[in-house]
Amino acid sequence: MARRKIIAGNWKMNKTPSEAVALVNELKPLVATEDADVVFCVPAISIIPAMEAAKGSNIAIGAENMYFEESGAYTGEISPAMLTDVGVKYVIIGHSERREYFAETDETVNKKVKKAFEHGITPIVCCGETLTQREQGVTIDFIRQQIKIAFLDVTADQAKTAVIAYEPIWAIGTGKVATTEQAQEVCAAIRACIAEIYDEATAEAIRIQYGGSVSAASAPELFAQPDIDGGLVGGASLKPDFGAIVNYNK
Ligand code: PEP
Repeated sequence: MARRKIIAGNWKMNKTPSEAVALVNELKPLVATEDADVVFCVPAISIIPAMEAAKGSNIAIGAENMYFEESGAYTGEISPAMLTDVGVKYVIIGHSERREYFAETDETVNKKVKKAFEHGITPIVCCGETLTQREQGVTIDFIRQQIKIAFLDVTADQAKTAVIAYEPIWAIGTGKVATTEQAQEVCAAIRACIAEIYDEATAEAIRIQYGGSVSAASAPELFAQPDIDGGLVGGASLKPDFGAIVNYNK
């Protein structure tokens, strides 16, 4: 069974709520497609206005992060129930910027992944190596370790619905996109790791994105790879280019 592509934008800490509404309105006609799931992961404060603006379109509004506790004294955090209450269906978990600047670890990623599933939210689970790790030849071992911990105590039925984003850190926001071969190699290794943890059916079902300086020019070849089921897109998701990325096959 062919996996449906999923192309998600990660807006990071960009756009005020009113700018978010304007951007959704601008991109709405450009990202229209029946061939892929299209998700805009936006800053928490813009989730509700972006959803209003996206009404009637094919855009799902997602979150960029959430906490792994239900509620309580966690100043500044957003709970899973807060996200589901307004209809959020996707959340990015463990982006490398969260790991680097906000002390997220494989263990907190695992807690968040499990909590997202408990609440019926699809996690977009990020993994990726540094340039040093790539140069040392430990990329696959490192990513296998990230995946194994992220999916600890996650059931096969849950894992089947997950999205994994392979994002080499050296390619994020640098304009240095991984070669098609590098991206496919790691995405295939991630799928093989999921088959080892679970089974072939789970590995066949799970969707794996590539992320890291994806552009309208690089998307068609990347997304045509057998183990790449779409992309997680940062900078280019804030521009009309995102329409061309989503409609990479037209
Ligand atoms: C990202 O932040 O997830 C990302 C892939 O960014 P960019 O596309 O800008 O490299």
